[in-house]
Amino acid sequence: MTNVVRTTCPYCGVGCGVKAQSTENGFQISGDEQHTANFGRLCVKGAALGETLGLEGRLLHPEINGERVEWETALDETARRLQGIIDEFGPKAVAFYASGQLLTEDYYAGNKLMKGFIGAGNIDTNSRLCMSSAVVGYKRAFGADFVPCSYEDLEQTDLVVLVGSNAAWAHPVLYQRLVKAKQQRPNMKVVVIDPRRTATCDIADLHLALRPGTDAALFVGLLNVLPPPEPNAFDGQTAALEIAANWTLEKTADFCQLDSADVQTFWHWFAQANRAMTLYTMGINQSSSGSDKCNAIINVHLASGKIGRDGCGPFSLTGQPNAMGGREVGGLANQLACHMNFEPADIARLGRFWGSERIAETPGLMAVELFEAIGRGEVKAVWIMGTNPLVSLPDSSHVAQALANCPLVIVSDVVRETDTSRFATVKFPALAWGEKNGTVTNSERRISRQRAFLPAPGEARADWWIISQIAQRLGYGEAFNWQHSHEIFCEHAALSGYENNGTRAFDISGLATLDREQYDALEPVRWPVTSTINSTFKSWRANGKFQLLPVEPALPQANADHYYPLILNSGRIRDQWHTMTRTGNVPRLMQHISMPFLEIHPQDAKRYGVTQNSLVRVASRSGGVVAKVLISANQLPGNVFAPMHWNQQFARKGQINGLIKSVCDPHSGQPESKQTAVRIQRW
Ligand code: SF4
Repeated sequence: MTNVVRTTCPYCGVGCGVKAQSTENGFQISGDEQHTANFGRLCVKGAALGETLGLEGRLLHPEINGERVEWETALDETARRLQGIIDEFGPKAVAFYASGQLLTEDYYAGNKLMKGFIGAGNIDTNSRLCMSSAVVGYKRAFGADFVPCSYEDLEQTDLVVLVGSNAAWAHPVLYQRLVKAKQQRPNMKVVVIDPRRTATCDIADLHLALRPGTDAALFVGLLNVLPPPEPNAFDGQTAALEIAANWTLEKTADFCQLDSADVQTFWHWFAQANRAMTLYTMGINQSSSGSDKCNAIINVHLASGKIGRDGCGPFSLTGQPNAMGGREVGGLANQLACHMNFEPADIARLGRFWGSERIAETPGLMAVELFEAIGRGEVKAVWIMGTNPLVSLPDSSHVAQALANCPLVIVSDVVRETDTSRFATVKFPALAWGEKNGTVTNSERRISRQRAFLPAPGEARADWWIISQIAQRLGYGEAFNWQHSHEIFCEHAALSGYENNGTRAFDISGLATLDREQYDALEPVRWPVTSTINSTFKSWRANGKFQLLPVEPALPQANADHYYPLILNSGRIRDQWHTMTRTGNVPRLMQHISMPFLEIHPQDAKRYGVTQNSLVRVASRSGGVVAKVLISANQLPGNVFAPMHWNQQFARKGQINGLIKSVCDPHSGQPESKQTAVRIQRW
């Protein structure tokens, strides 16, 4: 019997395969050579996973008001209080706030309970902050949330455009794959579109350091210079091309504050390339017009035919290990399970499948509006699962006020003390990576197994189990009578094919009859299960016309002014994960960058009298933080950058999201986390 367990990294959306081998001293972690996302490679975070397995700081027992209680007590009391709120104020007075860290089976259980049986749409997720604009973009263009690319395409393309993506730090193994592809095919060109010169620019043939937030104009202007598609090839084509006709080279270069020769080079390379891919992530999505930016990108791929072929397509990279799985089960408040919508036929279909007459009929509250509704007292109970919104949501002082006044805050987590859990009435101890068992889906729609190789510590339980126990106490026992994650996965797979008839792109019904052994042995597989990605995308295209969405480029809502003269960009650093609740405890991951910093151009440093490594207070109209100065010509003058990770444990005054206003894209509800007007002063 082997002592190696093959599993999947719990950090970013690349979804690397990981091997955990038990040794005398614990577990040795290495990359899984058989996993096609990474072929054995791991980045520094993945390689350090073995150092995150300790139990220090773990939540190991249920608690109510900070006191340890028995599971029965915690579950009974939580269900009693939830039922009381539902009876008195209706189902919309309760909400779940989930996470791209949850496994698909956990997510499915949470979505089923909220939208299928409690009867409200109020389950949303921290993935709202990550890729909800990309979902809107795909759905508007293709009629489905369909990612039309795979990682293999990187090895077959002629041009890679990275826009709003520092893949070298945020998706490191994918970036390494790109580096290798470029070495093997030196004629392949790489364009990086980003206001900052990041590590990703190391392989760029062209770096367009554009004025922050103006990305859409580059693609709308590109649409204007591409050969026009056949008449009526796409819905919306006339209007989209009419707008694009206004975006001449001069106007685009002026709007983006770029050299027109550089813009022309980019457009020429794209137009001439036989195959081209555009990779995009938070720099596009986290914007008050993020959905439109996504469609501006998709438009040029549709219009030029650089889609549905090997080496082509608009590729949204997801930030979290299971952001895609959340999309698949309906973990976003404005969608139903298995890519169904809030439409009568889908609602009725779900009711038949789940045997429920209580299916939510209207979308629920999206992340930012959910916490605003808690603040107004409209939502009276929130169950936060596997996420730390006090650090990750914008305008965190309002989030804190909201939770402080919320009558019932339930937190399921692996960490006992987080910025969020100090507001918890009830704490449920959840299983961590290495202990839990289920599936995740990566950026290219590949479903992989996360497998347990450690026993459950203390009284920690799987998230799906906790949810099912509450569901049973609320009176929905039969529908939640699962004994193992395998049963949930098969139910989810069966639902994906239920009355589908090719009308929904997400279909994994071929996996619905896996037995337990087959589920345990499941190899990574992309959905839909029976076809290759591009041929499937082609056949999906045959279902109907795609849309060129008319996009009018817009500036960010954040404006620098006399009082707040700098624009703050926020993002990830190489060695930390989200709010540092795990990676912050690994000494070697702290060696790269050990404290919050503010990257600032030398001209601005001089202007504001700050010196290298000195401390500055950074303030916006929403809050203030303290950070160490990093003077760097990689910034554009007038712009600064700070990482989004630090929680209160590691930097008492370092929560950068506290500076960010809750301004959201009107279609996706995704906050504009990339642009905030700030000022600085020496600390
Ligand atoms: Fe994990 Fe992402 Fe690193 Fe791969 S690239 S090892 S998935 S953090």
